[in-house]
Amino acid sequence: MNLATLSDQELIVGLKQSVISERGLVARVVAYLAEVESRRLELKAACPSLYEYCVLRLGMSEGEALRRMTAARLVQRYPMILGFLERGELHLSSLRLLRNHLTDENHEELLREACGKTKEQVQALVARHFPKEDVPERMREIPAPQPTLDLSGVPEVPIRAPEADRPRIEPLSETRYRLELTVTKEMREKLRRAVDLMSHRNPTRDAAMVLDAALDALLAKLEKERLGKTDRPRKAAAPADPGTVSRATRRAVFERDGERCAYVDDDGNRCPSRAFLEIEHDDPRARGGAGTTENTCVYCRPHNKFAAEEAFGREFIAQKIDLRRRRSNAPPVDNGPFAQLERGLRNLGFRASDTARALGILRSRVEDDALPPLEQLLRDALAILA
Ligand SMILES: [Zn+2]
Repeated sequence: MNLATLSDQELIVGLKQSVISERGLVARVVAYLAEVESRRLELKAACPSLYEYCVLRLGMSEGEALRRMTAARLVQRYPMILGFLERGELHLSSLRLLRNHLTDENHEELLREACGKTKEQVQALVARHFPKEDVPERMREIPAPQPTLDLSGVPEVPIRAPEADRPRIEPLSETRYRLELTVTKEMREKLRRAVDLMSHRNPTRDAAMVLDAALDALLAKLEKERLGKTDRPRKAAAPADPGTVSRATRRAVFERDGERCAYVDDDGNRCPSRAFLEIEHDDPRARGGAGTTENTCVYCRPHNKFAAEEAFGREFIAQKIDLRRRRSNAPPVDNGPFAQLERGLRNLGFRASDTARALGILRSRVEDDALPPLEQLLRDALAILA
């Protein structure tokens, strides 16, 4: 392709056509990814999530993968997004910004509003619809964890923390790294205390040395908990339930498989996941499979769930997980005044975005320790909304 021979006009026309083709292709890639995930093909290809699939199997950069995965997940829930992408009305970056705010009720309005906007403008849009409290004391604290992308019907895979929440690790040389992270006030106090208590061994008060010792202590504890490691191994008595995995077996299985998911695809690729590792029964425990080293292996959570779905069917496992979640993880109902107010306003038919805006304004007006009665708050909220 020799562009030097083109006239200025031909160059610009060609560029614009290429941009349009690129948008169409991006939308197509997103549509394909959505279908791949709905068929669990990334798991079959030994990847714990669509993100790893994009990076390892499709050769995308981490950033590209993250944006395309987010779009693919949202498209599974709100197919109208594909059209916006095709026409170049919405950027993938905008979807990343909106992803935790879209609901069945507000998605159409928010998506349309984000059309044709730059990333900065979408950030402003999000801030306007979902204002955060402006409390000076909190400025130095860590931001509240973002809610994970909860798409019912979409496979549950570990969702990566937003980039801003992850520590930044930058290599300085072959053996040295610079680590940057945000800590809470309590963590800062703990670090200060540990530096003080360790000052005899660490007279230069090097924080990295304290962190190193802390990690050694943490790893020893986690190895005991997660990998069944012990200082004094002993043979355990046979457990009552033959499917139970003893500490000795757990230890042996982790030693054999290493601290990595043992799922291998048809091409011999092994899953790279070292996180969310669990013990998987080859012959399912529910069908009498024993908790022996021969019958168990290390799988990551997505592959453990995938194996269960292959054995018992997707529907059955979804019901089981749902039941367990409702039994054990049912979040306690928030009966704080603002939560009650929010429910009240939503019941009155106000939109989520308007309600959030009104509550944001109210919160900024009142002191936490001098809250007016609920009726007064409701009257004020209605006044704002009117
Ligand atoms: Zn895996």
